[in-house]
Amino acid sequence: MLGARVVRAPRGPERSARSWGAEGALRMLQNNLDPEVAERPDDLVVYGGSGRAARDWRSFDAIVATLQTMAPDDTLLVQSGKPVGVLRTTEAAPRVLIANSLLVPRWATPEYFRDLEEAGLIMYGQMTAGSWIYIGTQGILQGTYATFTEVANRHFGGSLAGRVVLTAGLGGMGGAQPLAVTGNGGVALCVEVDPWRAQRRLEHGYLDEIADSLDDGLDRVERARRERRALSVAVVANAADTHPELVRRGWVADVVTDQTSAHDALGGYVPNGMSYAQALELRQRNPSEYVERAQAAMAAHCRAMLDFRSAGAVVFDYGNGLRGQAKDAGVADAFDYPGFVLAYIRPLFARGAGPFRWACLSGDPADLAATDRAVAEAFPDDDALQRWLRFAAENVSGQGLPARICWLGYGERHVAGTAFDDLVARGVLSAPVAIGRDHLDAGSVASPERETEGMRDGSDAIADWPVLNALLSTASGASWVSVHHGGGVGIGKSIHAGLVVVAEGTPASRDRVERVLTNDPATGVIRHADAGYDIALDTARTVGVRMPLDPGTHAPAWQQ
Ligand code: NAD
Repeated sequence: MLGARVVRAPRGPERSARSWGAEGALRMLQNNLDPEVAERPDDLVVYGGSGRAARDWRSFDAIVATLQTMAPDDTLLVQSGKPVGVLRTTEAAPRVLIANSLLVPRWATPEYFRDLEEAGLIMYGQMTAGSWIYIGTQGILQGTYATFTEVANRHFGGSLAGRVVLTAGLGGMGGAQPLAVTGNGGVALCVEVDPWRAQRRLEHGYLDEIADSLDDGLDRVERARRERRALSVAVVANAADTHPELVRRGWVADVVTDQTSAHDALGGYVPNGMSYAQALELRQRNPSEYVERAQAAMAAHCRAMLDFRSAGAVVFDYGNGLRGQAKDAGVADAFDYPGFVLAYIRPLFARGAGPFRWACLSGDPADLAATDRAVAEAFPDDDALQRWLRFAAENVSGQGLPARICWLGYGERHVAGTAFDDLVARGVLSAPVAIGRDHLDAGSVASPERETEGMRDGSDAIADWPVLNALLSTASGASWVSVHHGGGVGIGKSIHAGLVVVAEGTPASRDRVERVLTNDPATGVIRHADAGYDIALDTARTVGVRMPLDPGTHAPAWQQ
């Protein structure tokens, strides 16, 4: 059974595994479960409702033991968080191949999944939980920061100063929202039902204040709005109570979004009309009543968001599946407000840009500073990136191994990756660097209510793309590769892939890093060019991503 254990990745240049590929996987698995990093490490839950790093502690121990002893040309197979086999491949092949939460489509329902989970046969891997490249709340911070920058540019003349953003959910990912809003000069009012989560964000420096009540929270944000002062305030309450109440009072935020764990009606979203403690008790005692109450609460929450929109607020879904749940619970117009990818992120994806990230396996903050400098030097003309790197270095408090995220596109990621590899080779860094990304990326996800919502050619639900992406990462020699189902939006609603490559500072690793980090974002360009996006078509043509059929006309390229 699950027991209280404290897991932390080893630091330093000495490895216990026989290759840095395996050592990287080992340290990043352990880092995912570091209490500083994971939301519920005792249950092996890293973030995002019930996103786990390993199926159970027995599997965790077996994965660790295998990674420590396997040969440099062995590959470990992980099936939903359980190590199931070790096969001889080649040194250039991935050390670990991971498949999490995948079900044959007709059986891919939350109920069926839960039965299998209870039987101990499957595990929910979220996106970076079960693929061992979660880096704490920072992992989402830059994407959230970039989204609010885009909101400011699009609707408020480039700044959120004097604007209030109402949101809910201060969990592993949602906890980035207050800092991302204040980073853009705005005022954030964040509703969070679990007092411990709000406190955690305060302690980690992501949140400025916790109010005593909704009224107190409103007073504080209204003062800051008038003074055009950046401020984030949490109110400990249930969003299904506060939001309809705010609508009743006629109070309107400038922007409304949400990052409660709505994708999971049992393990994530908390129903209203009862205390938080009573909700936790009901979850244990009567799961089906809990799900029913959670669905009704999500309907009320979503209806209030639609009302805010009618009252003039900019409203967007932040990729948590709230609209889908609400629609299932009878809110016919739930999809009247758009998802954030459709509204703000798609042009970035079309260039192959997305959440590139890395972790310094040495554990040494000086290594992170050196990699930050390398990225800043590699892209001196990218003002937004330079601003972000300065903001992150000053405002992001570390969780676990020193790590950084920044959005880079096709033609950029391999430049950063090979620069890191050179730093390792030259001994500037004291140990290798694990380089990866979120599954929420340009070419690695099919998710019709989030990343692929409203694709120009109607290809939203086609999941060939993430599978091709994972196969390509494997062929390119990533250190570990994963394919998952259900991350972000819930079972039945997404298929997505991840990769990590370890920059070891050897000629072979430099080639691998260059290949993997060139090819992976190329699938984003290809996927969006194929769907007819001009930015992707231009990118593909100008940088020479080879596509046998010209995607603009679907005529063979040699006939152009
Ligand atoms: P999490 O489980 O760590 O946190 C969710 C938080 O919501 C918890 O703190 C919980 O107490 C709170 N909550 C639940 N019901 C509530 C309610 N009714 N009222 C107020 N608070 C409530 O999850 P997370 O990692 O923060 O992710 C949040 C959601 O965002 C998930 O659905 C996730 O899939 C999605 N997500 C979005 C992105 C993105 O880029 N937009 C990325 C990753 C995850």
